[in-house]
Order: sequence, then C-alpha cells, then structure tokens
Amino acid sequence: MKNTLRTLVFNGQVSLTIANTTGMVNDAIRYHMLSASSAKILGKALSAMTFMSACLKNSKGEISLSVQNGGECGDIAVSGNKELHMRGYIGNPFAEGDEENCFAENSALTIIRDDGYNRPFVGSCAWQTGGVDDSFEEYFHISEQLPTRIRTVVEIGENGQCNFAGVIALQLLPFADEEALAMTANTPLEEILQKLKTTPVERLVGDNFDADISVWEGGLALYQCNCSREYLKKVLVTIGKADFNKIVEEDGAVKVHCHYCNSDYTFTKEDEEEIFGK
Ligand SMILES: [Zn+2]
Repeated sequence: MKNTLRTLVFNGQVSLTIANTTGMVNDAIRYHMLSASSAKILGKALSAMTFMSACLKNSKGEISLSVQNGGECGDIAVSGNKELHMRGYIGNPFAEGDEENCFAENSALTIIRDDGYNRPFVGSCAWQTGGVDDSFEEYFHISEQLPTRIRTVVEIGENGQCNFAGVIALQLLPFADEEALAMTANTPLEEILQKLKTTPVERLVGDNFDADISVWEGGLALYQCNCSREYLKKVLVTIGKADFNKIVEEDGAVKVHCHYCNSDYTFTKEDEEEIFGK
C-alpha cells in the first residue's frame, strides 16, 4: 500500500508531499536498537529525507544527508533514492535528551543530491537549534532558494516502538505568487499530519487540499539498505588485489560492516578469484 503522496496544490503553484513513515522508523529502531531520543532524531531525519527523495526528478536519482555533530547524538547519515528506499545511521544510538540539546552549537548539515545527470549538487547550512524541521527549512532557504515548510513527527511509545511517524511538506514553485505564499504560510501542517494516524494518505490529501490529481505521484517509502555481498565485491575491487591479500594474511579475512543495517560481511582468500578474476 502506498504511504507517500506528492502532488500540486494552491493553483498548481505549490508542491505538497505527505508520507507515513511509521514502518520505516520501526525498522530503523530494530536495526540500530535505538533509544527513544535517538529514534526520534533519526526518525525525523529519515522522514524529512523521504520528502527529499520523493522530490528527485530522475528514476536513478539518489540523495544523502550528513550531519556533523559533536553533541549527544553524534553524526547522522541518511540516504534515499527515487524508489523511496531509505536508510540511516546515528552516531549514538543510545542518546538521551531532546532534539534541541542533542546537537553541538557548530553542527552542520550537508546534502548531496545526485539527479542522475552531470555532477551531484552539494549544499549545506548550519544546524538550527530548533532541530530537524528548522534545519531542513533553513537548508532550502539558504541552499536551494526554495521557500519550504516542513514538519516531521515521530511518536515513541513506552515499549520503545514507534506508534506514529510522518512528514508533510509544502514547497513553493519558482513562479508562485503572493496568494500561494500566504496559503502555504496559513496551512496547519501539524494538525493535518496528525490526521495521517487514522486516515490513508490519499484520502487525507483529498480531504484537506484542492489538489491537482493530474500530477498525483505515489510511492511506498520503506527502510531498505542497498548493501549486498555482490555490491561489496565491486567495492573491494577498488582497494586492489594486493591490499586485499595483505589484510587476509594479517587478519584471516576482510571484514566489512554496514552501518546502515548492521550487517557483517566476511571475505576470505577463497573469494579472491571471484572478486578480482584470475
Ligand atoms: Zn546494509
């Protein structure tokens, strides 16, 4: 079932994206054994990045977020693609505290967007004290000059599971007029997002917006790592046969750990021929 919807609203001048990311956040909790605080922060970052992944223009497009942070929760990395396969990592999975006090003052957010053409676009901004939503809004303002309102929510229950997570975003297109700007500013995003708890995403959009259904785009956003043994073999080619053999001699095997899904891969002498050829 689709959990993400993207369309145009307000006379086709503003893009609307809504996603229910509850399942994705629960998968992140499972992979990383996250505390409630870490689940909230990584979950909000995954949700915001789901919006950005839905905005990718090319089917081969990919987008990554990294937050360099010396504060309580450590660095954050999230990646996603146009298929809405998302994955993420948080430096300290056991952080305690609010979004507002888990980040050091000089933290920064960097986005790398690869739309599948030419060179990737890289943009960055300072992390905002308000947290994930404010920081993404600032990023769009500073780096892409696109006025954007974004709200994410992650609710963690007593048992440590995510009861609800989602994202709603409105982004003005370059030709948007004053009226569209005012309508965007006046939309009660938090209130609409809360209704996603009990309403399927398509009905939610229909109930709350006069949407242009000719550009209706849906998808199923989920937590999915793209690592695999085959993929890692290609990565190992880049370190070279000599270095591969040196590590095998010293350690008995080349061990690779995927931070996104906590999977371990082991490559031994027996894999050499398959990786590097004869
Ligand atoms: Zn992985």
